[in-house]
Amino acid sequence: MGHMVEFAPRPWDRPAPERAGRLSIYGMLPEDFTAMGAPGRAEHIFAMIQRPWEYRDGFPRLSREIREWLVANLDTALPEVAERHASEDGSTKLMLRLGDGECIEAVHMPREVRNPRVTLCVSSQVGCAMGCAFCATGTLGIRRNLSAGEIVGQVLAALRELGPERPHAITLVFMGMGEPLHNLEQVHRAIQILNHTRGLNISTRRITVSTSGLVPGIERLAHMEPRPWLAVSLNATTDEARSALMPVNRAWGLARLREALDAWSLGDRERLTIEYVLVAGQNDTMEDAERLAEWMGELRRGHNVNLIRLNEHEAASFREPDEAQVNAFVARLKALNCFVTVRKSRGRDIQGACGQLVKKSKGPSKRIENC
Ligand code: SF4
Repeated sequence: MGHMVEFAPRPWDRPAPERAGRLSIYGMLPEDFTAMGAPGRAEHIFAMIQRPWEYRDGFPRLSREIREWLVANLDTALPEVAERHASEDGSTKLMLRLGDGECIEAVHMPREVRNPRVTLCVSSQVGCAMGCAFCATGTLGIRRNLSAGEIVGQVLAALRELGPERPHAITLVFMGMGEPLHNLEQVHRAIQILNHTRGLNISTRRITVSTSGLVPGIERLAHMEPRPWLAVSLNATTDEARSALMPVNRAWGLARLREALDAWSLGDRERLTIEYVLVAGQNDTMEDAERLAEWMGELRRGHNVNLIRLNEHEAASFREPDEAQVNAFVARLKALNCFVTVRKSRGRDIQGACGQLVKKSKGPSKRIENC
Protein backbone atom coordinates (compact mmCIF):
# COMPACT_ATOMS: atom_id res chain seq x y z
CA MET A 1 0.00 0.00 0.00
CA GLY A 2 1.28 3.49 -0.83
CA HIS A 3 2.07 5.87 1.97
CA MET A 4 -0.54 8.43 2.94
CA VAL A 5 0.12 12.06 2.16
CA GLU A 6 -1.76 14.62 4.20
CA PHE A 7 -3.29 17.62 2.51
CA ALA A 8 -1.94 20.99 3.53
CA PRO A 9 -4.52 23.81 3.28
CA ARG A 10 -4.57 25.09 -0.30
CA PRO A 11 -5.99 28.26 -1.82
CA TRP A 12 -8.94 26.35 -3.25
CA ASP A 13 -9.96 25.08 0.18
CA ARG A 14 -11.91 28.27 0.68
CA PRO A 15 -15.31 27.13 1.95
CA ALA A 16 -18.51 28.06 0.21
CA PRO A 17 -19.92 31.28 1.57
CA GLU A 18 -22.88 30.53 3.75
CA ARG A 19 -26.00 32.40 2.85
CA ALA A 20 -26.92 34.75 5.69
CA GLY A 21 -24.40 32.93 7.87
CA ARG A 22 -26.32 29.66 7.69
CA LEU A 23 -25.36 26.16 6.64
CA SER A 24 -27.38 24.56 3.87
CA ILE A 25 -30.14 22.27 5.03
CA TYR A 26 -29.15 19.83 2.26
CA GLY A 27 -25.69 19.28 3.72
CA MET A 28 -26.97 17.93 7.04
CA LEU A 29 -26.86 14.33 8.24
CA PRO A 30 -29.38 13.19 10.87
CA GLU A 31 -26.75 13.44 13.61
CA ASP A 32 -26.15 17.08 12.69
CA PHE A 33 -29.77 17.92 13.39
CA THR A 34 -29.44 16.21 16.75
CA ALA A 35 -26.21 18.05 17.53
CA MET A 36 -27.85 21.35 16.63
CA GLY A 37 -30.68 20.65 19.02
CA ALA A 38 -33.43 20.33 16.43
CA PRO A 39 -36.82 19.64 17.95
CA GLY A 40 -38.32 16.28 16.97
CA ARG A 41 -36.77 13.20 15.39
CA ALA A 42 -33.63 13.93 13.40
CA GLU A 43 -33.98 11.01 10.95
CA HIS A 44 -37.51 12.04 10.20
CA ILE A 45 -36.43 15.60 9.42
CA PHE A 46 -33.58 14.28 7.25
CA ALA A 47 -35.96 12.05 5.26
CA MET A 48 -38.34 14.94 4.68
CA ILE A 49 -35.55 17.04 3.22
CA GLN A 50 -33.84 14.37 1.14
CA ARG A 51 -36.96 12.70 -0.32
CA PRO A 52 -38.66 15.76 -1.74
CA TRP A 53 -40.89 13.82 -4.15
CA GLU A 54 -42.84 12.73 -1.11
CA TYR A 55 -43.23 16.30 0.11
CA ARG A 56 -43.65 18.45 -2.96
CA ASP A 57 -44.55 21.73 -1.28
CA GLY A 58 -41.79 22.31 1.19
CA PHE A 59 -42.16 20.66 4.57
CA PRO A 60 -45.92 20.21 5.01
CA ARG A 61 -45.71 17.10 7.18
CA LEU A 62 -43.40 18.68 9.71
CA SER A 63 -44.80 20.34 12.76
CA ARG A 64 -44.87 24.11 12.72
CA GLU A 65 -42.28 24.18 15.47
CA ILE A 66 -39.79 22.14 13.40
CA ARG A 67 -40.49 24.12 10.22
CA GLU A 68 -39.83 27.37 12.01
CA TRP A 69 -36.68 25.96 13.59
CA LEU A 70 -35.33 24.80 10.22
CA VAL A 71 -36.01 28.09 8.47
CA ALA A 72 -34.52 30.06 11.36
CA ASN A 73 -31.33 27.99 11.59
CA LEU A 74 -30.50 26.74 8.12
CA ASP A 75 -30.44 27.90 4.52
CA THR A 76 -33.34 26.11 2.83
CA ALA A 77 -32.75 27.40 -0.72
CA LEU A 78 -31.85 24.93 -3.46
CA PRO A 79 -29.47 26.06 -6.21
CA GLU A 80 -31.57 27.92 -8.74
CA VAL A 81 -31.92 26.61 -12.30
CA ALA A 82 -30.66 29.63 -14.26
CA GLU A 83 -30.46 28.03 -17.72
CA ARG A 84 -31.58 24.80 -19.28
CA HIS A 85 -30.19 23.55 -22.61
CA ALA A 86 -31.75 20.45 -24.15
CA SER A 87 -29.70 18.33 -26.53
CA GLU A 88 -31.08 16.42 -29.50
CA ASP A 89 -29.88 13.21 -27.85
CA GLY A 90 -32.20 13.64 -24.83
CA SER A 91 -29.63 14.97 -22.38
CA THR A 92 -30.02 18.37 -20.75
CA LYS A 93 -27.38 20.71 -19.41
CA LEU A 94 -28.48 22.77 -16.42
CA MET A 95 -26.74 25.88 -15.28
CA LEU A 96 -27.34 26.26 -11.57
CA ARG A 97 -26.85 29.48 -9.65
CA LEU A 98 -25.55 29.17 -6.11
CA GLY A 99 -26.31 31.43 -3.16
CA ASP A 100 -23.37 33.76 -3.84
CA GLY A 101 -24.16 34.11 -7.56
CA GLU A 102 -21.49 31.64 -8.77
CA CYS A 103 -22.67 29.18 -11.40
CA ILE A 104 -22.02 25.49 -11.92
CA GLU A 105 -23.22 23.04 -14.50
CA ALA A 106 -24.81 19.62 -14.22
CA VAL A 107 -25.76 17.31 -17.06
CA HIS A 108 -28.84 15.10 -16.94
CA MET A 109 -28.66 12.07 -19.22
CA PRO A 110 -31.61 9.69 -19.42
CA ARG A 111 -30.58 6.29 -20.77
CA GLU A 112 -33.07 6.82 -23.54
CA VAL A 113 -35.94 9.18 -24.04
CA ARG A 114 -38.73 8.54 -21.47
CA ASN A 115 -36.65 5.95 -19.62
CA PRO A 116 -36.70 6.75 -15.89
CA ARG A 117 -33.09 5.58 -15.50
CA VAL A 118 -30.83 8.59 -15.56
CA THR A 119 -27.16 9.43 -15.16
CA LEU A 120 -26.43 12.77 -13.52
CA CYS A 121 -23.03 14.32 -14.09
CA VAL A 122 -22.36 16.73 -11.23
CA SER A 123 -19.82 19.41 -10.38
CA SER A 124 -17.68 19.49 -7.25
CA GLN A 125 -16.05 22.92 -7.63
CA VAL A 126 -16.67 26.25 -9.32
CA GLY A 127 -14.01 25.99 -12.03
CA CYS A 128 -11.01 23.70 -11.62
CA ALA A 129 -7.38 24.11 -10.62
CA MET A 130 -5.99 21.21 -12.59
CA GLY A 131 -5.48 22.99 -15.91
CA CYS A 132 -5.79 19.94 -18.20
CA ALA A 133 -4.85 21.21 -21.65
CA PHE A 134 -7.80 19.64 -23.50
CA CYS A 135 -10.52 20.70 -21.06
CA ALA A 136 -12.73 23.77 -21.25
CA THR A 137 -13.36 23.85 -17.50
CA GLY A 138 -9.60 23.90 -16.94
CA THR A 139 -9.41 27.26 -18.71
CA LEU A 140 -11.52 28.83 -15.94
CA GLY A 141 -9.08 28.25 -13.14
CA ILE A 142 -10.46 27.58 -9.67
CA ARG A 143 -12.94 29.90 -8.00
CA ARG A 144 -14.02 27.86 -5.01
CA ASN A 145 -15.09 24.49 -3.67
CA LEU A 146 -18.72 23.50 -3.38
CA SER A 147 -20.09 22.67 0.04
CA ALA A 148 -21.74 19.29 0.63
CA GLY A 149 -25.07 21.13 0.79
CA GLU A 150 -24.46 22.65 -2.64
CA ILE A 151 -23.50 19.26 -4.12
CA VAL A 152 -26.59 17.53 -2.71
CA GLY A 153 -28.68 20.60 -3.59
CA GLN A 154 -27.42 20.30 -7.17
CA VAL A 155 -28.69 16.71 -7.35
CA LEU A 156 -32.05 17.57 -5.80
CA ALA A 157 -32.49 20.63 -8.03
CA ALA A 158 -31.72 18.58 -11.17
CA LEU A 159 -34.16 15.84 -10.13
CA ARG A 160 -36.84 18.34 -9.28
CA GLU A 161 -36.40 19.97 -12.70
CA LEU A 162 -36.05 16.86 -14.86
CA GLY A 163 -36.79 13.74 -12.79
CA PRO A 164 -36.84 10.83 -12.25
CA GLU A 165 -38.78 10.86 -9.05
CA ARG A 166 -37.51 7.57 -7.68
CA PRO A 167 -33.94 7.32 -6.40
CA HIS A 168 -33.17 3.73 -7.48
CA ALA A 169 -33.01 4.96 -11.06
CA ILE A 170 -30.12 7.40 -10.58
CA THR A 171 -26.45 6.96 -11.38
CA LEU A 172 -24.20 9.78 -10.18
CA VAL A 173 -20.87 10.64 -11.73
CA PHE A 174 -18.57 13.32 -10.34
CA MET A 175 -17.31 14.25 -13.78
CA GLY A 176 -18.62 17.80 -14.08
CA MET A 177 -16.69 20.94 -13.21
CA GLY A 178 -13.82 20.46 -10.79
CA GLU A 179 -11.45 17.85 -9.40
CA PRO A 180 -13.56 16.08 -6.74
CA LEU A 181 -10.52 14.96 -4.77
CA HIS A 182 -9.48 18.59 -4.34
CA ASN A 183 -12.69 18.93 -2.37
CA LEU A 184 -12.68 15.53 -0.75
CA GLU A 185 -14.23 16.38 2.63
CA GLN A 186 -17.31 18.00 1.14
CA VAL A 187 -17.63 15.51 -1.72
CA HIS A 188 -17.47 12.64 0.74
CA ARG A 189 -19.97 14.24 3.06
CA ALA A 190 -22.32 14.69 0.08
CA ILE A 191 -21.86 10.99 -0.77
CA GLN A 192 -22.71 10.04 2.83
CA ILE A 193 -25.92 12.03 2.54
CA LEU A 194 -26.87 10.74 -0.92
CA ASN A 195 -26.13 7.15 0.10
CA HIS A 196 -28.06 7.37 3.40
CA THR A 197 -30.88 4.84 3.66
CA ARG A 198 -33.31 7.50 4.89
CA GLY A 199 -32.39 9.82 2.01
CA LEU A 200 -31.98 9.18 -1.72
CA ASN A 201 -30.24 5.90 -0.81
CA ILE A 202 -28.08 5.85 -3.94
CA SER A 203 -25.86 2.79 -3.81
CA THR A 204 -22.12 3.44 -3.82
CA ARG A 205 -22.02 1.17 -6.88
CA ARG A 206 -23.96 3.88 -8.65
CA ILE A 207 -21.69 6.71 -7.57
CA THR A 208 -18.41 7.23 -9.42
CA VAL A 209 -15.81 9.80 -8.49
CA SER A 210 -13.57 10.64 -11.41
CA THR A 211 -10.12 12.07 -10.69
CA SER A 212 -7.37 13.44 -12.86
CA GLY A 213 -4.96 11.35 -10.76
CA LEU A 214 -4.58 13.25 -7.50
CA VAL A 215 -2.71 10.50 -5.69
CA PRO A 216 -3.03 11.78 -2.06
CA GLY A 217 -6.79 12.09 -2.61
CA ILE A 218 -7.03 8.54 -4.01
CA GLU A 219 -5.13 7.24 -0.99
CA ARG A 220 -7.42 9.02 1.44
CA LEU A 221 -10.62 8.03 -0.34
CA ALA A 222 -9.45 4.40 -0.41
CA HIS A 223 -10.05 4.22 3.36
CA MET A 224 -13.29 6.20 3.56
CA GLU A 225 -16.74 4.77 4.16
CA PRO A 226 -19.04 4.81 2.31
CA ARG A 227 -16.66 4.55 -0.62
CA PRO A 228 -17.78 5.32 -4.17
CA TRP A 229 -16.33 3.66 -7.24
CA LEU A 230 -13.27 5.27 -8.76
CA ALA A 231 -12.47 6.41 -12.27
CA VAL A 232 -9.08 7.81 -13.24
CA SER A 233 -8.60 10.03 -16.23
CA LEU A 234 -5.32 8.82 -17.73
CA ASN A 235 -5.11 10.23 -21.25
CA ALA A 236 -1.46 9.53 -22.01
CA THR A 237 1.03 6.70 -21.70
CA THR A 238 4.37 8.42 -21.11
CA ASP A 239 5.15 10.86 -18.31
CA GLU A 240 6.27 13.42 -20.85
CA ALA A 241 3.04 13.31 -22.84
CA ARG A 242 0.87 13.13 -19.74
CA SER A 243 2.61 16.06 -18.06
CA ALA A 244 2.04 18.12 -21.21
CA LEU A 245 -1.70 17.33 -21.20
CA MET A 246 -2.26 17.14 -17.44
CA PRO A 247 -0.07 19.19 -15.08
CA VAL A 248 -1.04 16.87 -12.18
CA ASN A 249 1.35 14.33 -13.70
CA ARG A 250 4.34 16.54 -12.85
CA ALA A 251 3.64 15.91 -9.19
CA TRP A 252 2.36 12.32 -9.40
CA GLY A 253 3.61 10.44 -12.43
CA LEU A 254 2.29 7.31 -14.05
CA ALA A 255 4.18 4.85 -11.83
CA ARG A 256 3.05 6.59 -8.62
CA LEU A 257 -0.54 6.68 -9.85
CA ARG A 258 -0.44 2.98 -10.67
CA GLU A 259 0.88 2.29 -7.14
CA ALA A 260 -2.08 4.16 -5.65
CA LEU A 261 -4.48 2.05 -7.72
CA ASP A 262 -2.79 -1.16 -6.59
CA ALA A 263 -3.41 -0.10 -3.00
CA TRP A 264 -7.15 0.43 -3.66
CA SER A 265 -8.56 -2.82 -2.26
CA LEU A 266 -11.52 -3.73 -4.40
CA GLY A 267 -14.92 -4.63 -2.99
CA ASP A 268 -17.22 -7.31 -4.29
CA ARG A 269 -17.76 -6.88 -8.06
CA GLU A 270 -16.11 -3.46 -7.86
CA ARG A 271 -14.32 -2.25 -10.95
CA LEU A 272 -11.95 0.60 -11.63
CA THR A 273 -12.40 2.67 -14.74
CA ILE A 274 -9.46 4.09 -16.64
CA GLU A 275 -10.69 6.93 -18.78
CA TYR A 276 -8.76 7.86 -21.84
CA VAL A 277 -9.66 10.88 -23.95
CA LEU A 278 -8.36 10.26 -27.46
CA VAL A 279 -6.72 13.37 -28.93
CA ALA A 280 -5.63 13.24 -32.56
CA GLY A 281 -1.85 13.13 -32.93
CA GLN A 282 -1.27 13.34 -29.16
CA ASN A 283 -2.11 9.98 -27.62
CA ASP A 284 -3.84 7.83 -30.25
CA THR A 285 -1.06 5.77 -31.85
CA MET A 286 -0.70 2.00 -31.73
CA GLU A 287 2.36 2.46 -29.49
CA ASP A 288 0.11 4.39 -27.07
CA ALA A 289 -2.37 1.50 -27.05
CA GLU A 290 0.47 -0.93 -26.29
CA ARG A 291 1.90 1.24 -23.50
CA LEU A 292 -1.59 1.67 -22.05
CA ALA A 293 -2.09 -2.11 -21.92
CA GLU A 294 1.33 -2.50 -20.31
CA TRP A 295 0.59 0.18 -17.70
CA MET A 296 -2.73 -1.53 -16.92
CA GLY A 297 -0.93 -4.80 -16.24
CA GLU A 298 -3.05 -6.89 -13.85
CA LEU A 299 -5.82 -4.31 -14.07
CA ARG A 300 -6.59 -5.66 -17.53
CA ARG A 301 -8.49 -8.41 -15.74
CA GLY A 302 -12.02 -7.21 -15.19
CA HIS A 303 -11.35 -3.47 -15.20
CA ASN A 304 -12.49 -1.12 -17.83
CA VAL A 305 -10.71 1.20 -20.26
CA ASN A 306 -13.26 3.80 -21.22
CA LEU A 307 -12.26 5.61 -24.40
CA ILE A 308 -13.72 9.01 -25.07
CA ARG A 309 -13.21 10.86 -28.31
CA LEU A 310 -12.11 14.40 -27.56
CA ASN A 311 -14.99 16.83 -27.46
CA GLU A 312 -13.63 19.79 -29.34
CA HIS A 313 -14.24 23.24 -27.91
CA GLU A 314 -13.16 26.78 -28.62
CA ALA A 315 -10.61 26.98 -25.80
CA ALA A 316 -8.14 24.44 -27.22
CA SER A 317 -6.73 23.65 -30.63
CA PHE A 318 -6.78 19.86 -30.13
CA ARG A 319 -8.77 17.74 -32.54
CA GLU A 320 -10.65 14.47 -32.19
CA PRO A 321 -9.26 11.45 -34.04
CA ASP A 322 -11.19 10.02 -37.00
CA GLU A 323 -13.29 6.88 -36.80
CA ALA A 324 -10.65 4.63 -38.36
CA GLN A 325 -8.03 5.66 -35.79
CA VAL A 326 -10.44 5.09 -32.88
CA ASN A 327 -11.35 1.65 -34.25
CA ALA A 328 -7.70 0.69 -34.68
CA PHE A 329 -6.92 1.83 -31.11
CA VAL A 330 -9.82 -0.21 -29.73
CA ALA A 331 -8.78 -3.28 -31.74
CA ARG A 332 -5.20 -3.07 -30.50
CA LEU A 333 -6.29 -2.80 -26.85
CA LYS A 334 -8.69 -5.72 -27.23
CA ALA A 335 -5.94 -7.81 -28.82
CA LEU A 336 -3.90 -7.10 -25.69
CA ASN A 337 -6.72 -8.41 -23.46
CA CYS A 338 -8.07 -5.07 -22.29
CA PHE A 339 -11.76 -4.68 -21.59
CA VAL A 340 -12.63 -1.60 -23.66
CA THR A 341 -15.73 0.55 -23.97
CA VAL A 342 -16.09 3.61 -26.14
CA ARG A 343 -18.17 6.25 -24.40
CA LYS A 344 -20.91 7.72 -26.47
CA SER A 345 -20.60 11.40 -25.67
CA ARG A 346 -23.87 13.01 -24.73
CA GLY A 347 -24.81 16.64 -25.12
CA ARG A 348 -22.10 17.61 -27.61
CA ASP A 349 -24.41 20.07 -29.35
CA ILE A 350 -25.06 21.94 -26.08
CA GLN A 351 -21.40 21.94 -24.92
CA GLY A 352 -22.43 19.56 -22.17
CA ALA A 353 -20.09 16.73 -23.04
CA CYS A 354 -17.04 15.71 -21.08
CA GLY A 355 -14.40 18.44 -21.02
CA GLN A 356 -16.78 21.04 -22.43
CA LEU A 357 -18.32 22.34 -19.22
CA VAL A 358 -17.41 25.96 -18.89
CA LYS A 359 -19.29 28.90 -17.52
CA LYS A 360 -17.69 32.27 -17.79
CA SER A 361 -17.89 33.85 -14.35
CA LYS A 362 -17.16 37.38 -13.33
CA GLY A 363 -14.03 38.31 -11.43
CA PRO A 364 -10.56 36.85 -11.15
CA SER A 365 -9.85 33.18 -10.75
CA LYS A 366 -6.70 31.42 -9.74
CA ARG A 367 -4.96 29.09 -12.15
CA ILE A 368 -2.73 26.59 -10.42
CA GLU A 369 -0.41 24.92 -12.86
CA ASN A 370 1.37 22.58 -10.52
CA CYS A 371 -0.83 20.64 -8.17
S1 SF4 B 1 -10.45 17.43 -17.06
FE1 SF4 B 1 -11.34 17.50 -14.97
S2 SF4 B 1 -9.54 17.83 -13.67
FE2 SF4 B 1 -8.87 18.37 -15.74
S3 SF4 B 1 -9.23 20.61 -15.89
FE3 SF4 B 1 -11.07 19.56 -16.66
S4 SF4 B 1 -12.47 19.46 -14.89
FE4 SF4 B 1 -10.39 19.84 -14.10
